[in-house]
Amino acid sequence: MNATPAVVDPCSVVSSDDEAASSAALLLIDALRRKRGDLPSEIADAQDSLERRIRAHMTKGRVTVTLTDNRYTMISVRRVPKEKRYEVRLHHMFADADPVITRALARYIAENDNEASRILGDFIDSNSGHVRGRARRQPAQVIFTAGETHDLRSLYDELNARYFGNKIDAIITWGAKNGRPRRRNSIKMGSYAVEDRLIRIHRSLDRAFVPRFFIAWIVFHEMLHQVHDIRVKNGRREFHSKEFLADEAMYEQFDEAKRWERSHLDALLTY
Ligand SMILES: [Zn+2]
Repeated sequence: MNATPAVVDPCSVVSSDDEAASSAALLLIDALRRKRGDLPSEIADAQDSLERRIRAHMTKGRVTVTLTDNRYTMISVRRVPKEKRYEVRLHHMFADADPVITRALARYIAENDNEASRILGDFIDSNSGHVRGRARRQPAQVIFTAGETHDLRSLYDELNARYFGNKIDAIITWGAKNGRPRRRNSIKMGSYAVEDRLIRIHRSLDRAFVPRFFIAWIVFHEMLHQVHDIRVKNGRREFHSKEFLADEAMYEQFDEAKRWERSHLDALLTY
């Protein structure tokens, strides 16, 4: 049997064929880890450079890049429509990305392009050795918080501050896109994967007719799953205990959300 090599620090695993690039990457990672107060110049320079390289592929809009050492979220995009600006947070694995990747980033950021997100997903998977604390055999989750019409990150942040004292520690993403629209019998609007701390919201909700307060209700519900353990009662798993349901009703627009769901079920199911 082969012994598994000990994972020292996955971030120190960088491609060895380019010494200069490797040491630059290590410097950057160091700088990200000790970042406090003023932004160290290594990070500022890397962010500026990446910003410039992404912008080169964009026909319109502005982009600002923040590099992170985040364990879960590799890409997150916030659109500021009024200013035609995109605030993008990217894992430091993107710092040295080549033009194929920066072009895919531009197209994902500005157009939510499917092919671009596939390219980025592959890039993230093959670079997941750079992600702190992640077992290397585990593929990195591709997280898409910016939808076509709704931004999950701001929703999640608002709910976390308002109802949970920022105590919820989860990742949130839109689910995968599907093929052509059809009428379904049921739809799972949200899910929560306990081990991965991952909340997934169905793409059907990322449409203009779906109000923000309704998506917020679904997100709130999934966040509650982190607060309430799944209990086993009479041999059956109880996902939504009495206590869970009582907490869920604390959502400010709970009744409104329920009502909206009833009157738009058909539209929600057609996706
Ligand atoms: Zn649930």
